[in-house]
Amino acid sequence: MNESQVTMIDASSAQGFHLEAGSTLRVINSMGSQVVGTWAFARSSMNEFMSMEHSRIHSSSSKPKIGTVFYTNAHEPILELTADRSPGVHDWYLAACNQQRYELLGHAEEHANCADNLHSALADLGHSLSFVPCPLNLFENVSLLFGGSMEIKQPVAMPGDYVWLKALIDCLVVLSACPQDILPTNGPDLTPRSIEVEIDQPGG
Ligand SMILES: [Zn+2]
Repeated sequence: MNESQVTMIDASSAQGFHLEAGSTLRVINSMGSQVVGTWAFARSSMNEFMSMEHSRIHSSSSKPKIGTVFYTNAHEPILELTADRSPGVHDWYLAACNQQRYELLGHAEEHANCADNLHSALADLGHSLSFVPCPLNLFENVSLLFGGSMEIKQPVAMPGDYVWLKALIDCLVVLSACPQDILPTNGPDLTPRSIEVEIDQPGG
């Protein structure tokens, strides 16, 4: 019998979750238009992490979709996108936003960002990291344009849309409700929103 729990992650913040192999994690875009930076780390070592570069090697697709398996930097399967009740628009190319990104966008003051959110969520669970892997940017709408350029567009995810991610090994997953409020990354109203997470652990 499975045990399910639902957690809300406030707008512009992040939280980490320990997942056993076989667990599933549902990332719910409760209010729509919210991008979710997603990282995963092997429980055996924080130096083994879900890597978009390595995952793309094993995929024949230009973007994540149902059935996509994400790999670590040691080429081990760590997460699988098992269901997608959204338009299926996600990004696996762009770096997490950080303080420097906002400064370059003209915001000189301190600004919440996905990189700091990751470090904070890891610290809450007793971990630290000296770098920020490229995240899986769930619901981020990055268009590949003719000629090879890319453009960040407003998300097409609607309220209540969700994806399921299955843990293929014991891992630690961190989700960041992206604080971007200068570009339309999180919608044309430039308003970050909260998300919800539901976890089903095998065996309860
Ligand atoms: Zn962000």
